[in-house]
Amino acid sequence: MINIENQFFFKDEAQNIEVFIKREDLIHPFISGNKFRKLKYNLLQAKKEKQAALLTFGGAFSNHIAAAAYAGHEYGFKTIGVIRGDELFNKINENPTLQFAQKCGMQLEFVSREDYRLKTETHFIEKLHQKWGDFYLVPEGGTNTFAIKGCEEILLDGDSKFDYICCAVGTGGTISGIINSALSHQKVLGFPALKGDFLKDEIQKFTTQEHWELITEYHFGGYGKVDSTLISFINTSFATNKIPLDPIYTGKMAFGVIDLIQKKYFPKNAKILMIHTGGLQGIQGMNIKLKNKNLQTIVYND
Ligand SMILES: *Cc1c(COP(=O)(O)O)cnc(C)c1O
Repeated sequence: MINIENQFFFKDEAQNIEVFIKREDLIHPFISGNKFRKLKYNLLQAKKEKQAALLTFGGAFSNHIAAAAYAGHEYGFKTIGVIRGDELFNKINENPTLQFAQKCGMQLEFVSREDYRLKTETHFIEKLHQKWGDFYLVPEGGTNTFAIKGCEEILLDGDSKFDYICCAVGTGGTISGIINSALSHQKVLGFPALKGDFLKDEIQKFTTQEHWELITEYHFGGYGKVDSTLISFINTSFATNKIPLDPIYTGKMAFGVIDLIQKKYFPKNAKILMIHTGGLQGIQGMNIKLKNKNLQTIVYND
């Protein structure tokens, strides 16, 4: 089992609140953080089913697409990525994530946003089978029961000293695994990276526990949206701790945690563990967008 250490992140002296961060981003440069955890048992299942190909779904800068492409390359699967947005078809050169996926051998199929919404429907998947033959289907973001099982391995025995576990939320798979493995005295806080009320129901599909809550005020306008406050926070944080954060998920979560400490949300002496779910591969693509708009870019290495 991979053992990732927790690093010190922040201390509020007046309230004696300490924040540590679990560096799941260090698991692997490409299959980093929760995407590795979510793929692990899916890859084992695909091998067991003797499948030669993996097919999955994602957006233009998807961490999951990058991870699935690399995992396929590393573990001997053909990979097919169904990508949201048919306009991206001739823009691969401007997109580091899709370029990387292609370099790993992933075959990309671009679909319109309307078609992409049909991705869980039998008819749509049948059409994909007609085109691509047999494959093991990994859902968008990798979330299914195998993924939850993998994410139940994120928390370790030594983490029992923490009162709060904080984690970014996309589809809700990662936090579900964390909730299942958290101890009863711990509270799990999820920070959705997007707007929408559906996440609570999604998470309840995968867990029966109740010691968790979603903090919905830190999506910064929605999925993939950023502003200069967030970018400055990420850069200051990196300058202070040398811990890089991504702008889509972990940056928003860490911003939320620090903001909540300042707003006295947590009790005095609280020990908080943030999960660094990875996502650093997306920074390059985000920086291209920021640069095009003449905005401050993200500094994430020296
Ligand atoms: C995908 C992703 C998440 C969200 O995980 P879900 O299981 O979809 O909730 C969080 N952080 C990072 C860095 C991710 O890439």
